[in-house]
Amino acid sequence: MKQNERIIIIGAGLSGLTLAYSLSKKNVFATVLEASNRLGGRIQTIKGENETPLELGATWFSDMHPNLISLLDELELKKFPQYSKGKSLFQTKSFEPAQEFYIPEAETPSYRIAGGTERLINTLNEKIDAEQIKLKTKVVSIEETENELIVQSNKGEKIIADKVILCLPAQLVGSQIKFIPELPDNISAVLPTVQTWMAGAIKFVLEYSEPFWRKNGYSGMLYSHVGIVSEMYDHTNFEEDKFGFTGFLNGSSSTYTKELRKELVLRQLEELLGKDASTPLTYYEKIWTDEFVLNGNRINSIPHQNNGHPLFKNTYMGGKLFFSGTESIDEFSGYMEGAILSAKNTLKKILK
Ligand SMILES: Cc1cc2nc3c(=O)[nH]c(=O)nc-3n(C[C@H](O)[C@H](O)[C@H](O)COP(=O)(O)OP(=O)(O)OC[C@H]3O[C@@H](n4cnc5c(N)ncnc54)[C@H](O)[C@@H]3O)c2cc1C
Repeated sequence: MKQNERIIIIGAGLSGLTLAYSLSKKNVFATVLEASNRLGGRIQTIKGENETPLELGATWFSDMHPNLISLLDELELKKFPQYSKGKSLFQTKSFEPAQEFYIPEAETPSYRIAGGTERLINTLNEKIDAEQIKLKTKVVSIEETENELIVQSNKGEKIIADKVILCLPAQLVGSQIKFIPELPDNISAVLPTVQTWMAGAIKFVLEYSEPFWRKNGYSGMLYSHVGIVSEMYDHTNFEEDKFGFTGFLNGSSSTYTKELRKELVLRQLEELLGKDASTPLTYYEKIWTDEFVLNGNRINSIPHQNNGHPLFKNTYMGGKLFFSGTESIDEFSGYMEGAILSAKNTLKKILK
């Protein structure tokens, strides 16, 4: 790498921020351009009425994710296991009662980050010089001149770079960014077909003043082929003094109103867990279909389709343009581990 190279990272999700942080440890200060008005991308923790950290995006990981675990250790962030003690429920048929089952204590439990997943984003942000990150700056074009790349935002701002790293879902690279000259046909054809993990998912969170389900011997874990809630888990905080649930809603309910979704969630939970379930302090939900995760023609794709495609290993625009982000990598693609691993691999490539 030459001295004083100007590096632009596009996307302030986990991969972009991890890369900016790793570069800053080597005294290389990149500029991070982020389209939305917040950091984190598919990581978003909100606080309920009781200040309970509630995850609308990424939540769980395991010992199989060593790069995430070592980043948490380095940043001195704590992890804790997902609560799973007691009776869990499985609704298979609408005309039969839910089946009860017990989850054996797992050798490799699922973990959560104490204080919420967004603590990882906020801690990375604190370690990076704030002037490096520009929010509400959506990249719309990248033009190659002889020795440089000109990155243009939707506000018309032009920033010159020696290297540009794409830390956003590949499908968005294809639908949002115009390349001048165009990228080679083979990579242009792949981009729209790369599935973005969890695009279209509907996550919901509930906050309660008491963990009534735990007191009644339930784990809070629910799987259902019947109701609007298809998966649900206990969402009590690390300190065990704030309580709630999180999970996923059936994809077809995206066409309902929010009021109807909430009503159906509470009705399903009341039937399964009793009257206390019907009076949460907070109900929030997020349908992950906004322009920051999904854009342009949505091509039907299977989960993880074309994630880690070999063409993402190549550089483009005369060796100045790099693909990164969780969908660019063939190991743990779609997950937080993949986002961090992609940052690690890209760091090696750009420091060469
Ligand atoms: C509902 C949900 C649940 C999930 N659960 C889990 C889980 O339990 N465990 C797990 O490991 N993973 C989970 N994930 C996946 C995890 O969130 C992602 O793997 C990870 O956050 C991806 O990071 P990234 O930086 O690669 O991409 P992103 O987080 O998508 O970041 C890309 C960033 O680029 C920005 N951007 C987009 N277009 C432009 C543009 N034109 N110009 C500038 N910026 C742009 C976006 O706004 C975004 O901030 C979940 C995701 C969702 C949505």
